[in-house]
Amino acid sequence: MADKKPVFDADECTGCGLCVDECEAECLEMSDDDVATLARPDDCTGCGTCEENCPSEAVTVK
Ligand code: SF4
Ligand code: SF4
Repeated sequence: MADKKPVFDADECTGCGLCVDECEAECLEMSDDDVATLARPDDCTGCGTCEENCPSEAVTVK
């Protein structure tokens, strides 16, 4: 597992799904209430692509 992981701010997430689409590791999913979540943390490489692509600054990889 990578040291860094995405942390999502549910209040800022608009549910656009961009981070899910852009994650090459395919480890993100939208939850039932339309917030991005790290569904498969073991697959996350900590690359930061989700943070770079979020238009709402709702995800921070740290
Ligand atoms: S840090 Fe990279 S691998 Fe991890 S969820 Fe974000 S885009 Fe996917
Ligand atoms: S890109 Fe940002 S706003 Fe869109 S689903 Fe992901 S965390 Fe939410």
